Amino acid sequence: MLLNPGPVNLSQRVRQALSGPDLCHREVEFSALQTRLREELLALYSLAPEEYAAVLLSGSGTAAVEAMLCSLVPAGSKVLILENGVYGQRLERIAAIHGIPHDTLHHAWDGPLDVQRARNKLREDPEISHLAAVHHETTTGRLNDLAALAEPCRERGIAMLVDAVSSFGAEDIDFARWPLAAAAASAGKCLHGVPGLSLVLLRRAALEDKAAPTRSLYLDLRGHLAAQDAEDTSFTPPVQCCYALAEALAECRETGGWPARRRSYWRKMDRVRGGLADLGAAPLLSRAQCAAPLNAFRLPAGTAYQPLHDALKEAGYIIYAGQGGLARTIFRVACMGEVSMEQLTEFLDAVRDILC
Ligand SMILES: *Cc1c(COP(=O)(O)O)cnc(C)c1O
Repeated sequence: MLLNPGPVNLSQRVRQALSGPDLCHREVEFSALQTRLREELLALYSLAPEEYAAVLLSGSGTAAVEAMLCSLVPAGSKVLILENGVYGQRLERIAAIHGIPHDTLHHAWDGPLDVQRARNKLREDPEISHLAAVHHETTTGRLNDLAALAEPCRERGIAMLVDAVSSFGAEDIDFARWPLAAAAASAGKCLHGVPGLSLVLLRRAALEDKAAPTRSLYLDLRGHLAAQDAEDTSFTPPVQCCYALAEALAECRETGGWPARRRSYWRKMDRVRGGLADLGAAPLLSRAQCAAPLNAFRLPAGTAYQPLHDALKEAGYIIYAGQGGLARTIFRVACMGEVSMEQLTEFLDAVRDILC
């Protein structure tokens, strides 16, 4: 049982969808599938197709994040990056690799983003046109407060670029109230599809506003959007991943969309938080600071990660290590995908057997 943040345990219907018919992506059957996927992705967050578009990309979540930064920051403008974990660092690396002018506000990994610092920076630097941040920083399980950041952005006419890879499908992403130009997401996390397909949900005007230079052939959102709007694809798409995502999105819609998924994750995570705390593995962050899909836990005194991981793997459960400076002190548990309360109770029993 996978308790890592993607790939996830697949439902039976998603697994079956993977063995759909062999299909050429230049045929009408694929165009219809692609169009349906793009419509369903907008519908998940009630977005109007005249104003917003979902652009599908081959690749894991990082492909979507890189495409978003490459395609949406115009020449001559600067992006302010807010970092409080591995994925914030990745935003900075992407900007550096593509020569995109940027400034980064670094933060402690166990702390929140400093909205006042961001506001001051935006006020004092007129070259900044975009702000990039991670929604759910999977490094710690923190849900960064994008609503609070939206306000200084709106004040200065700054467009937000959000890495929503581990929140899309299970957390509120308020496209109407936050000045979002785009959000990057992946099929293989909270959407419960398989890895290999990712997407950028963008405000159409964000691509039209000012021309960004083409910084990548493969990750050029303008090219992908034009092709997909014309019911075509720029390159060969991962057809089977598309089958899986279509089924996963249907499953999400039928079970109540992202709000129901968030509630379901929290029911499970509350059980895990309570159970692990009883065993000496206290949550790293308070419940109010956390995202529903994944939480981080302190390793109990005298317990190292690797033996705990190996013993749990032996018992049938995959947990996830901490990263960077947190590698020795925390571990992470995600409840994405097909995971039942009963299985989580059995998981907690397995942890008890190992620790006690
Ligand atoms: C998983 C994840 C990514 C993308 O990682 P991939 O390995 O490329 O799928 C990006 N950002 C966040 C916050 C993530 O959790």
